[in-house]
Amino acid sequence: MPHNLKLPVQTVRLLEEIGSLAEKMGYRAFLVGGIVRDILMGRENLDIDITVEGDAPTLVKKFATERGYRYHIYPEFMTAQLTTDTGLKVDFATTRKEKYSHPGAYPEVERATIEEDLFRRDFTINAMALEITEGSFGKLIDPFGGERDIKNKVIKILHKDSFVEDPIRILRALRFAGRFRFKLEGETERLLKTAVKGGYLQYAPTGRVNLELGNTLKEDRVKDILLLMGRYGVLESLGFATDDRWAEVLNRLPETVRWFKDSLGWQVDTAPVYLLSVLYPLPEETAEGLLEKYHFEGYKPAIKDFYLLKGKEAEKNSDLYKSIKNRNREAVVFWTAYRGLGNRIKGILEKEKEKPISGKDLKELKIPPSPLYREIIDDVFYKHLDGEIKDREEALRYIKQTYLSEGQKQ
Ligand code: ATP
Repeated sequence: MPHNLKLPVQTVRLLEEIGSLAEKMGYRAFLVGGIVRDILMGRENLDIDITVEGDAPTLVKKFATERGYRYHIYPEFMTAQLTTDTGLKVDFATTRKEKYSHPGAYPEVERATIEEDLFRRDFTINAMALEITEGSFGKLIDPFGGERDIKNKVIKILHKDSFVEDPIRILRALRFAGRFRFKLEGETERLLKTAVKGGYLQYAPTGRVNLELGNTLKEDRVKDILLLMGRYGVLESLGFATDDRWAEVLNRLPETVRWFKDSLGWQVDTAPVYLLSVLYPLPEETAEGLLEKYHFEGYKPAIKDFYLLKGKEAEKNSDLYKSIKNRNREAVVFWTAYRGLGNRIKGILEKEKEKPISGKDLKELKIPPSPLYREIIDDVFYKHLDGEIKDREEALRYIKQTYLSEGQKQ
């Protein structure tokens, strides 16, 4: 196989065996879509998609049976999934063309040639195939100039109706542009703007918006993608909102998320954090309505806790600490960036790791263990946060004065 190959040897071996069986059965088989793009770009990709000119379920059944591998067939879609003895999963589809009954609908399917199959795809860079059939192994099929567009760093649709036919591609175009730092090709950009203005995203099934938005929220460059979605009016068209401070808040997010993860070891799910960045200007009920509309109900705790924090004023560090303690972590991370409180909150949470006194000190002061311990430790910690108690020595003096009876002070 040519190009800057990032596939493990065992995978190449497996592809060769599949290609050999395909050839014997009179079929042609191809790697398609994202994996071909990523092979050409020298990027790793573990999702192996194979398309068969012939019948994918028949090929998979025969291949799996000969080797004792597990497989599952989805006859209504002419697709199948193979699981090898090492647990590697490979998705198979039969080459097909699609017809859309109305914009954004799930397409109707019909058998087709590899070229027709590629033509139904979204962008030139995603519309290439690498043949694996024995005898043609490694042959690139690139009818729309995908390889050229990778070199030129552009996202380009295959025909002018593409965004209207499937408005989800509007979201995908910006996701790939952000991920690879590619530009939208001129005509593609013009048509994308027209489709957004035309309100076509409102026709997209909300389940598909959920999938695509969910993928976006998991991207490393989610911030850049959201900025693009803001610039092209996509967020607004979906009902989300931004305000004057939006770019500033968004730009603070990657560093804030990193700090909570690296310095505090928090496990932060970045999806609700970034979702909050397009919800915060809205009233809470509207934000919750959008979560329901796009099936992100799982993020409700983050959204609810953010709105509890949203307008809170915290003059004293101890009040700030009490506000964020026991709140949803994603809400705290977003609120920190939203309010520009990074340095204060960092200081506070770092101090939490080294409180000035512990239960052991209280034992040494001969205070009998009781729920009072918690109260004293918290009281001292809050005073420490507010600068009223500097160190352990001052803490012990304060405890003696405040909590010990005359007899205990001896
Ligand atoms: P990723 O790296 O995000 O997985 P991918 O290109 O593999 O990228 P998938 O969503 O898994 O993305 O889609 C696989 C392939 O299916 C794409 O490369 C593209 O060829 C095609 N495809 C996916 N969604 C669409 C769409 N809405 N319209 C046309 N083709 C699509």
